[in-house]
Amino acid sequence: MNEILNMDINAMPQTTFACSCGKTHHFDLKGLSIRKGAIHDIVSMAKPFKEGKILVVFDNNTYLAAGRKTAELLKTNGFKVKELLFDCGKDVLIPDEKTLGRILQEQDFDVSLMIAVGSGVINDSVKFVTSRTKLPFIVVATAPSMDGYVSDGAPIISAGYKYSPQAHLAYGLIGDTEILKTAPQDLIQAGFGDVVGKITAIADWDLAVKANGDYRCDTCVALVERALQKCFSTADGLKMRDETSLCALFEALTLTGVAMALVNVSRPASGAEHMLSHYWEMDFIARGLNPNHHGIQVGVATVIIARFFEELGDTLPKGCKELCPTPSEIVKLLKKADAPTNPKEIGIDRELFYQSLLNAHTVRPRYSILQFAKEQGRLETIAKKITKEIYG
Ligand SMILES: [Zn+2]
Ligand SMILES: [Zn+2]
Repeated sequence: MNEILNMDINAMPQTTFACSCGKTHHFDLKGLSIRKGAIHDIVSMAKPFKEGKILVVFDNNTYLAAGRKTAELLKTNGFKVKELLFDCGKDVLIPDEKTLGRILQEQDFDVSLMIAVGSGVINDSVKFVTSRTKLPFIVVATAPSMDGYVSDGAPIISAGYKYSPQAHLAYGLIGDTEILKTAPQDLIQAGFGDVVGKITAIADWDLAVKANGDYRCDTCVALVERALQKCFSTADGLKMRDETSLCALFEALTLTGVAMALVNVSRPASGAEHMLSHYWEMDFIARGLNPNHHGIQVGVATVIIARFFEELGDTLPKGCKELCPTPSEIVKLLKKADAPTNPKEIGIDRELFYQSLLNAHTVRPRYSILQFAKEQGRLETIAKKITKEIYG
């Protein structure tokens, strides 16, 4: 029972175990390699698909980081390879109809596997398209920037609206610390912000169990909490791109994905802090602006959600408040990686901020501290108070 808690992360694929929560969990990922030099494992991981053509997808940045090497390794080992480059210059690639359509256009009949070389958008886009065309895909991660590598949800944009339809789990994931350490510092900060967000996600989950009767798996919570501890205790090295710190960060991002895959919901990874972040992102996109990195926003939003937990402390069910550190403790944590901690730092104006506090709970139908505040009739008062504290 709960065997997964004693396993090395690279041994987790294809694990099935009876859990103390009463369910039998299965982790369906086929291949996982997180280590120095892991990129060389692409050859053995892609081997079952050698009959067909491999479509390798990257953008200008991820081509240099790992795309070229991935394609080279496959070609020298006798694979048929087709490359798809998104040349987006200085712009951020958006996972919208245009990007998804382009990937679909390049999927010839004889493609047997896609490889997404990248972090956020490339991975989400390839994940979504292959889920609809029923093709396996492998991710070669280029940055420890987000937790979506082993989740089956794909945040994409349709008619300007961001949503996370169910897609499917990757066939395999490669996290090569030699590649990850070349990631830009803002992507490392983003990954760290996304991990910090798990603190309020877990607190929100606990609240949803106690105030709304939601299901929870304690093994998954333990899995995430252990990974958080390891990541936070080595976080001081992130600024220097220390390999142990980066490996702990990538493991934490991956393990939250494992936890999500085990329970088939994103609860272990996302709570109200993600709703705030999605609200901000949609607003930026609607105004034609490049949104901040997902995890950068999540980190900032975590400070705000912790403030909600603090404000509502007296009315929360027993034990909920203790699960959430104070806003200043979250700020201290984010500063270990030099990540932004205040919405003003990331271009969110007063009105957007205030509106997001009032409306973020409508982004997805999920019980969170924001819903709790609304039910208590205190959402507006707290939103006004926090907005004044930050914007004066
Ligand atoms: Zn996230
Ligand atoms: Zn369980």
